[in-house]
Amino acid sequence: MSLKYLAGGTTLKYDAQRCTGCGKCVEVCPHAVFTMENGKAKLVDKDACVECGACRKNCQFEAISVQAGVGCAAAVIGSLGKKKSPCCGDGGCCG
Ligand code: SF4
Ligand code: SF4
Repeated sequence: MSLKYLAGGTTLKYDAQRCTGCGKCVEVCPHAVFTMENGKAKLVDKDACVECGACRKNCQFEAISVQAGVGCAAAVIGSLGKKKSPCCGDGGCCG
């Protein structure tokens, strides 16, 4: 059974003009919604977004917006085993 939301149903929005290509959204998204292309993030599977909010919380350049509530928890879950701190490390996004 697919975990995807109804096509077009996500509140996820991405503004490529603001993207600096830091790669955080690719790193933290548990559903591979983003990929990097030509030094910028690219939405490749928007319908797979479950609105966890991890990408928005980890984007320091306000290139992403999404209505979400538990992004930090999802980011931590998504990063398990990667030995990285996607949310509560540098930048203080959880602050
Ligand atoms: S986290 Fe933000 S600035 Fe970084 S690659 Fe993703 S959209 Fe671009
Ligand atoms: S809200 Fe969560 S599932 Fe959706 S793109 Fe961002 S990190 Fe991925």
